[in-house]
Formats: sequence, structure tokens, C-alpha cells
Amino acid sequence: MTGLDAGTFSARVSARGAARWTDRLHPWIYRSDMLDAPGSEPGVVDVVDASGRPIGSALWSPVSTISLRMLTHEPQAIDHAFWLERVLAAKARRDDMSLDADAVRVVHAEADGLPSLIVDRYADWLVVQFLSAGIERYRDRIRDALVEAYAPRGILARDDVPIRRHERLASDTAVIHGEVPGMIEVREADVRYFVAPFTGQKTGAFLDQRENRMRAGSLARGHALDLFAYDGGFGLHLARGGAHVTAVDSSADALERAHRNAQINGLDEGIECVEANVFDLLRDLERDSKRFDVIVLDPPAFARRRDNLKAALRGYKEINLRAMRVLAPGGHLLTFSCSYHVGPDRFRAMLESAATDCGRPIRWIETRGQAADHPEVLQIPESAYLKGAVLQAV
Ligand code: SAH
Repeated sequence: MTGLDAGTFSARVSARGAARWTDRLHPWIYRSDMLDAPGSEPGVVDVVDASGRPIGSALWSPVSTISLRMLTHEPQAIDHAFWLERVLAAKARRDDMSLDADAVRVVHAEADGLPSLIVDRYADWLVVQFLSAGIERYRDRIRDALVEAYAPRGILARDDVPIRRHERLASDTAVIHGEVPGMIEVREADVRYFVAPFTGQKTGAFLDQRENRMRAGSLARGHALDLFAYDGGFGLHLARGGAHVTAVDSSADALERAHRNAQINGLDEGIECVEANVFDLLRDLERDSKRFDVIVLDPPAFARRRDNLKAALRGYKEINLRAMRVLAPGGHLLTFSCSYHVGPDRFRAMLESAATDCGRPIRWIETRGQAADHPEVLQIPESAYLKGAVLQAV
């Protein structure tokens, strides 16, 4: 198979490019650091530094600005055994986490040594995303490794993601093994919910918030607001904890699933689903002097690119300020940002500014982050994107 295995082609990179791997342990080399490109076929290539010294093998993406994604430092066959070993290592790390759920991210791309590959497990099924031209070449081998490691009843490839356009890859959703149902029921602690693998956001669910949803459940009391609720994940845990919940989202589809999720947990008395724009709703609640004991704010990424950071921060501040204003005394606000470009310092400064404008002392009770099955690697800042805090109105 020409071009599929290391040794067939090689890429030569600048000293700066080589240093990203050898000194900084960051797995990417950008196009601007490519001295000799290995041709127009994506796949695994050997990589050498400017003087011709081998520095590892990588996935090669001919059209992306991220040209090389590191696989190994040492020369090694990138064969079935290689992919299987990486998949099993990622699986073993999940086994050690003893997660109280059967919906789990089992491969978190670069942070699991499998660049541009996402794999989420929903009970007996897997949903994968191949996010670069390099990894796309190995679809069959990765599918085989996943079948061997997990023996799933089916695997769905959710390749309908905009990022694939940067790699000139087609947008597609395809069952690549077995059969995959339209709805999968999964468990998260003592809550069950439906995932829509073909049509839901991401691969069907927001697994990165699992532990934060459970934490919300432990703070449940009185009247709670689940804002940007999607299929009601936070709301289910809040209602299970005894709160009366208003779950708000702009997507009717997501709310329909939230309603069904409430029903299968016997919690439909405790959750009211409201289709609304959170910005408008918070303005109305503030005008009507409403008060809530727990508020969850889990907006989509407002800053998808660095150049709209300012507008994004204005948006985050507006919803956080209004949420602080409608918190009952002693009430908790669980607030999040999944924008990579809003780092932890900016996130905290935004909250500080909102608290100041709100005119009430607001306590920072605890720092929250992404679920453990979405590992963060210190040398790969891109692997850490979800920030959160539990705040309390004094
Ligand atoms: N909290 C959810 C995930 C939320 S994802 C969980 O734990 O699973 C963000 C959600 O915000 C999406 O469901 C999207 O439909 C919704 N959304 C985006 N903009 C909105 C707006 N202005 N008002 C209300 N909902 C919005």
C-alpha cells in the first residue's frame, strides 16, 4: 500500500519545526516549517530535521496549515499492532478512572497519542471522528483496532464537522461497522439519558461536562435554572437532587430529548423545558426580579476564532452578570466556557468584572474543568479548553 506506511516518504523540517517535537514535546509541525514536503498523498511519513537526522514519524496532511502530527519519536512500523496498542493504552487509562457512566470519551486525539482522532463510547456503540487527511487514510485500520479492543455492536463515523474542510475532506456520516440505532440510552451516575448519535451535537452528547453535571446534582435545592440545557443533562441531575428545574435552550430538538430524558428518569414533574434565547430570557427574569437557588450557564463556544475574542468576552460577561443578579442569597452559579481562546485568566477576569458590575460580593467556591476522560496534556495547550467555576452569591 503505497504511502500508507512509514519509510515510503519523508518530510524535512526546519530547526524550529524539529524543536517543537524534540524540545517542547508539542505534536504539530506547521506548513511554514516544512523544508521538503513528501508529495500530495496524505499518510504516515518519516520526518527528518534540516540536517537529515530522523526525528520520528507523523501523519502528513498535504493541504492543512498543520502539516505534520507526530505519532512516534522512534522509527516504528505504523501497522495494525501500532493502532491497537494506542487504542488499548487509551482504554486502560479510562479503566483506571473508574468513571460512573457508560458514555465515555475513549480517545481524546493528541492527548491520547492518536492525533486528530476522537472516539466516544455510548454503551455498546462507538462514534468516531477522523479530523485530518493523515488519519483519514487509516480509517479501516483504526476501525479494526476499535473492533478488537471494544467488540462494539456498531461504529458510526460522524465526519460532518467543519474542521475537515481545512483538510479538504468530505462531510459525511457513515456506519463503518455493525449497526447503530438512531437513539442510544446511556447512564451517568444515577441518571439515564438518550443520545442521538447521527444528529446530536458533537458525537451526540457533551461528555466533557459529566463530572460538572454530577457536581450540580450535589448543589441542588429550591428553584434551579439550566441555561443552554441541550438535552437537559445538568437539569436531570439537579432534578434528581430535588430541585425544581427550568431547562432553557434555543433548540426545539434538543428540548424534545430533554423532555423524554426527564420522563425515563421519572423526573418530568421536576423539569420544565423552555425554548428561548438565554440572553432575552435572562433580561426578562432580571426585569421581573426573579431569584434562583442554582443557575447553570453552559453556553456554546462564543470565541471560535481568536479574532472574535472581544465580542465573545462581552457575551460571556453579559450572561454571567445577569445570572449573578438573579441569584438568591446563598445561591450557586455554575458557569463555564468551552472557548479555547478564552484561557483561565481571561475567564476569571471576565467573572470578576461581572461580579463588580453586579454590586454583590460573589465567592469563587471552586475551579472546575473538563471531565477526566478528556485528558489535558500540559505541553499541548489545545487539549485543555473547558473552564468552569462554582460561584456563590453572599
Ligand atoms: N449543558 C449541555 C450542553 C450545552 S451545549 C450539556 O451538559 O449537555 C450549548 C447549547 O446551547 C446547545 O444545545 C445550543 O442549542 C444552545 N444555544 C446556543 N445559543 C443559545 C442561545 N442564545 N439561547 C439558548 N440556547 C442556546
